Amino acid sequence: MKTTILGYPRIGTRRELKFATEDFWAGRIDAAALEKAGADLRGAVWTGLRDAGLDAIPSNTFSFYDHVLDTSVLVDAVPERYRGLDGLDRYFAMARGVQDIPAMEMTKWFDTNYHFIVPELGPDMRFRLPGGVTSKPVAEYLEARALGIETRPVLVGPLTYLLLAKPAADAPAGFRPLDLLDGLVEVYAELLERLAGAGTEWVQLDEPALVADRTDGEVAALARAYARLGELSSRPHLLVATYFGTIGAEALRALASSRVEAVGLDFVAGPGNLDVLASVGGLLRKTVMAGVVDGRNIWRADRQRAKAACATLLGLADQVVVSTSCSLLHVPIDLDAEDALDPAVRGRLAFARQKVGEVVALGEALGEDAAGPAAQVPASTAGIDHEVRARLDTLGGSSRGDRETRFAAQRASLGLPDLATTTIGSFPQTPEVRRVRADRRAGRISEDDYSQAMRQEIARVIALQEELGLDVLVHGEPERNDMVQYFAEQLDGYAATEHGWVQSYGSRYVRPPILHSDVARPRPMTVAWTTYAQGLTSKPVKGMLTGPVTMLAWSFVRDDQPLAETARQVALALRDEIGDLESAGIRIVQVDEPALRELLPLRAAGHAAYLDWAVGAFRLATSGVADTTQIHTHMCYSEFGEIIDAIGALDADVTSVEAARSHMELVGDLRAAGYENGIGPGVYDIHSPRVPSADEIEENLRRALQVVEPAKLWVNPDCGLKTRAYPETEAALRNLVTAARRVREDA
Ligand code: GLN
Ligand code: ZN
Repeated sequence: MKTTILGYPRIGTRRELKFATEDFWAGRIDAAALEKAGADLRGAVWTGLRDAGLDAIPSNTFSFYDHVLDTSVLVDAVPERYRGLDGLDRYFAMARGVQDIPAMEMTKWFDTNYHFIVPELGPDMRFRLPGGVTSKPVAEYLEARALGIETRPVLVGPLTYLLLAKPAADAPAGFRPLDLLDGLVEVYAELLERLAGAGTEWVQLDEPALVADRTDGEVAALARAYARLGELSSRPHLLVATYFGTIGAEALRALASSRVEAVGLDFVAGPGNLDVLASVGGLLRKTVMAGVVDGRNIWRADRQRAKAACATLLGLADQVVVSTSCSLLHVPIDLDAEDALDPAVRGRLAFARQKVGEVVALGEALGEDAAGPAAQVPASTAGIDHEVRARLDTLGGSSRGDRETRFAAQRASLGLPDLATTTIGSFPQTPEVRRVRADRRAGRISEDDYSQAMRQEIARVIALQEELGLDVLVHGEPERNDMVQYFAEQLDGYAATEHGWVQSYGSRYVRPPILHSDVARPRPMTVAWTTYAQGLTSKPVKGMLTGPVTMLAWSFVRDDQPLAETARQVALALRDEIGDLESAGIRIVQVDEPALRELLPLRAAGHAAYLDWAVGAFRLATSGVADTTQIHTHMCYSEFGEIIDAIGALDADVTSVEAARSHMELVGDLRAAGYENGIGPGVYDIHSPRVPSADEIEENLRRALQVVEPAKLWVNPDCGLKTRAYPETEAALRNLVTAARRVREDA
């Protein structure tokens, strides 16, 4: 074996998986047709990888929804509430819920934008292998073999599976899913024996949890699990794959002394892996899967550098196999499908299919010397904007005036009541609004007709907010398809793909923009819409922008300079936009940072440096305004934990956050952490169509008032309203205004 990859996109080059699953959900196709679509997709991937010349091909990377959910079904970790269902109905009920049975929780897969279904485990959990010889990994292995292709089934490793699980709602306090390790490992042992019986030569166990901070107890659990699996008399060779960062030295030592035959290390996100490997004396009797081709990002590999890394590894392992840093699940499938990309950008890119080619080419090059055909046409480089760079070099501090002075100035100039009411930005995106945008994109309507339709929508939303009695209005964001893409399309340095879909969760795929060069703002981006809205009302209209961290987190970002530097370029563009909004008479600007927490490094050691640049970029964007201009920010989560100090450091005048589900606790937490500015704890959950009563909103407000003074408490929903419909939105906002008025009267 010379070359492999850790996994491949499952969605199909033309998004076949999405269409098949959605057809099945809508009853347009039956289970057999869905199964057939799955088999076709798997077959196409395996044969494609074989034809590309890859030596070792993964299987069981396919999933109808999510591979962690597949694992739960595989080991029968099915919560009681789904036990009355079976087959695909049960599977999709766990993922999406059905009438009266809520779905399982979904959360982000490490620091990626892929979401998995969180296992729910209680102390009574008895893992089993209900499928026996027909279990999915065995079945897919045999399916590939029937096509003449030997594959390596990929499993979520037992340690990672349990570390990602959450205790079931009825589990006693103190119960940890990891307590179930021994039982789970026995089921994996049975599965490995079944796979060996089917003829499997290699199995891959994914343990990305090993690149985050791990306790001694967890490392001991790792050692115990792999000692047990290693000693099985009849089993395939084992590859334990880690990715998304640098493995802990203790964890690597545990794997080194186990009998697993191979370890996968990520040399892209985890450059420290080389040192860790050296510090444990290498893996001289094992194979190292050298993750040198980036599985997370879309840049072409630097072949000389990758080759050099592999060469260094040769002295530290028995064998070195060229591999991707992680599964290619996180990148679009095929660059050849893109016709409209600027050639200078295109020449720097590699999508999944191209990355397989890079792995194969590197495998061949390793056998040759540096002067051989390994030489590669040099890639073009990022566009440089000297003006942006010069301005960033000379920009001074990023601090605003004293916060109490600002507070007083804004209070005087804005004239807002205590418990001011507002929304987070978007209003429901009706089918008509979406259709107008689609028509404009397809050229079916003129720019004038488009702008006319958008103005009408904005006028309608402003009139509605006036009628509801909200204090700070928004234009409603009808012109935005997506909060990142909207800005990416207007900034220099960004490109869009036509078919670059990546799975976010289930049948939801995203097409992240590509930040390839220095970022600059050729012209104002939001000023026309916002000032149009402001012209319709005497109440303040909030300008609405996406913050620098979120602009990076939801894009593919150039890797030829530190993220911190790229973030400053985006921040400068936003600073100019905010300046233009201010000059045009906009008195409040909100800069959304829903992804601030998402980019937090997996290890605590990296947190301070990250938060430093993330906060710095936000402040660079927002600190150019007068004391009277009020800066808001918004985040879509309530578990602040590690970033609570950073929220304060952003120094926004008002911060709105998700708090409804945690009963406003967050307000106290923020205050306790020294946050003294305005707070808008979301008083109701917009993720459900349920209309909150005025009483319950009132109760939330009174709770918040125990820790915040009325002039600093804001009243708003917990996120944008774009996924909601109008009837429930109007009813909810009406109750919100009523509740605020009632509380204001006695405050
Ligand atoms: N302003 C955006 C909206 O209301 C914020 C979206 C978000 O927080 N994800 O849609
Ligand atoms: Zn939000």
